[in-house]
Amino acid sequence: MKIAICPGSFDPVTLGHLDIIERASELFDKVIVLVMNNSTKRCAFSVDERIELLKKCIDSPKIEIDTYSGLLVNYAKAKGAVAIVKGLRAVSDFDYEFQQALINKSLFGKIETVFLTAKGENMFLSSSMVKEVCSLDGDISPFVPKAIVEDINLRCKGEK
Ligand code: ADP
Repeated sequence: MKIAICPGSFDPVTLGHLDIIERASELFDKVIVLVMNNSTKRCAFSVDERIELLKKCIDSPKIEIDTYSGLLVNYAKAKGAVAIVKGLRAVSDFDYEFQQALINKSLFGKIETVFLTAKGENMFLSSSMVKEVCSLDGDISPFVPKAIVEDINLRCKGEK
């Protein structure tokens, strides 16, 4: 069974993330959406909240949600994953993602990083952008699934 990991902060999950996760699930037998618990990054939602938001948006037997705070390749090794799947939005994502892919490959030679290009309409979409629009009272419904609009509004509206 070919397992892939989609790692990220998902603070909160957006339609851009979900597009990559769904496309990854068509390429692999199982996809683990891994909510990275990075203590240096200040998040609007706790890990448990980010997992709850993901659960409201994902309903596929091929997709699992998990969390991890260690080195990604150690998690990949433990799960027998063959690939890390990342979304590439613009050239700006490339430099950092390329470095990460090379480091992960040198730490664990059996892991491949697979880049999927973001859909045109998601090119500008990021969790930070969603939080910023929301904090300024903008409508975030074009950017995240309906099921979580209210949760994000409750947390981020007026949070400037
Ligand atoms: P962000 O960069 O929005 O903070 P994450 O760290 O949660 O997001 O990103 C997790 C993964 O999702 C990364 O591979 C990132 O490139 C990808 N991703 C984020 N936003 C999008 C998008 N709009 N379209 C495609 N991929 C995306």
